[in-house]
Amino acid sequence: MDNYYDFIIVGGGLSTIALLDSLKSNKNFRICVVESGLEYLSIPHQELNLEGDTNANYFPLASTRIRQFGGTLNHWSGVCARIPNRELSLWGDTGFTAYYSKAENLMGISSLEYKTQKIDSLGYVAEWMLANPMKPIEIGKELKQSLPNVTWYFGKTVTKIVHDNISVKGVEVSDLNGNVQSLQAAKIILAAGGIENPRLLMQSNFDNIEETPVGQFFCEHPHGELGFITPSKKGKDFIGKYFKSNAKGFSGIEVPNGDGSFSVGFFLTPHEHQMKYDKISVQFSRLKQLISTTGIDKTALLQAGEILKAPLETVKFLSERFRLRDVYTVKFMSAQSLSLGNKLSPSQRVDRLSKERINLEWSVDELDKRFITEACTNFANFIVEHGYGSVRLHDWLIGRDVEPHTFVGGFHHMCTTRKGKLNGVVNSNNETNFVRNLFVLGSSCFERPSYVNPSLTIAAMSYEFGQKIIDNTI
Ligand SMILES: Cc1cc2nc3c(=O)[nH]c(=O)nc-3n(C[C@H](O)[C@H](O)[C@H](O)COP(=O)(O)OP(=O)(O)OC[C@H]3O[C@@H](n4cnc5c(N)ncnc54)[C@H](O)[C@@H]3O)c2cc1C
Repeated sequence: MDNYYDFIIVGGGLSTIALLDSLKSNKNFRICVVESGLEYLSIPHQELNLEGDTNANYFPLASTRIRQFGGTLNHWSGVCARIPNRELSLWGDTGFTAYYSKAENLMGISSLEYKTQKIDSLGYVAEWMLANPMKPIEIGKELKQSLPNVTWYFGKTVTKIVHDNISVKGVEVSDLNGNVQSLQAAKIILAAGGIENPRLLMQSNFDNIEETPVGQFFCEHPHGELGFITPSKKGKDFIGKYFKSNAKGFSGIEVPNGDGSFSVGFFLTPHEHQMKYDKISVQFSRLKQLISTTGIDKTALLQAGEILKAPLETVKFLSERFRLRDVYTVKFMSAQSLSLGNKLSPSQRVDRLSKERINLEWSVDELDKRFITEACTNFANFIVEHGYGSVRLHDWLIGRDVEPHTFVGGFHHMCTTRKGKLNGVVNSNNETNFVRNLFVLGSSCFERPSYVNPSLTIAAMSYEFGQKIIDNTI
């Protein structure tokens, strides 16, 4: 049968690239990858990511995921970290950690010696590494060229998983021209991202799916600003020691809550006035270069220059004041607890393939606000009590209600098909608990969100899964 495979993989993003990399030495498997997007960005395909009804607290969904070969790797920032052991102690299954170094190799980062150094009573040193953002896609392209056992379909969206409620049979795929096709396989692996994985499960009419939390517990990483620090002389040494930044990555401080289950990571950036001035200066020098290299009428530009002079002087004044005093903005990214209020559900509105779009409800609940506020307050008190400088807190921390827009997400979609013996969608082999031979990969399978960026862990989980296929345990 021409369209029968050992594995159909749904999606051609990071999860899939890492999985294929782990399987590359075994060319006996007949594998088919179905990618909804093309090999370049196509807006009609990207529009399949549009949400149903908007969620005022969250980004438009289409801006948070890319439908293209490589998926959201075409858009990501490349900040990576391993999940700290303290948080991992609350995960039931941590086998993927043995694959972190393979994942780091895929990302183009060298394994760091992860420090667990404690900083007095405050927290721990935190290190984030900067990946070579395009390296995983480049490896994906090489795999596409070099693996004869893998068939690729682009521009075809899996719209349904075909099954008899006991085991899977195959998938139904559709393109934007209205063509529908069936593909059969012994096993199906969903690697379509933290929103599309549960969406596809919800669209495929499984009898027992209601007993699992598909689409529930949507987790993000709330990001925000604490305020800014003006360091003392002693504080400059403290900052130099813990808040480092270079081409390989940057460091900061993790502040965990009492039982270690929830952490908030703090890092420093130059104060925004300084950054604005630096950006504007770059634009001005480009403009000057343009004037000198083209024959355009300079009068209008000179007039524009006059008009812009006053605001520019103000920005310059502020930036110099802050630069002289080495003022830093303190930013944070936080874990989020599993909350029933944060969830995905089908919308009444449909996409171009007549499939229900997704509604997302997301906010930061009261308990998480309390943890984040406590961590911020501990951090600020620590700086002041140790004489490291003064901290000017933003309004939200000193008595005003926390507005929803105080926190933004980090474009990370987690826990929507979570792994877990109790109340899980998938088991420890990433197989769904309601039908056999259907597997799910990616951050939707995280048991909990941790507070660190997800992609390194996503890749490590795919490598672990690939090894299980090779070992015949899947
Ligand atoms: C602006 C931005 C910055 C980010 N920065 C970072 C960062 O610094 N660090 C970090 O760790 N993470 C970051 N991320 C998150 C990171 O990009 C994702 O965690 C990662 O790319 C997810 O990989 P994935 O393969 O699981 O899913 P995706 O990248 O979403 O890939 C899924 C693929 O499946 C395809 N697909 C979807 N549905 C179907 C279907 N029904 N049929 C067929 N194919 C389908 C999609 O087209 C896509 O190609 C960032 C994200 C954004 C948006």
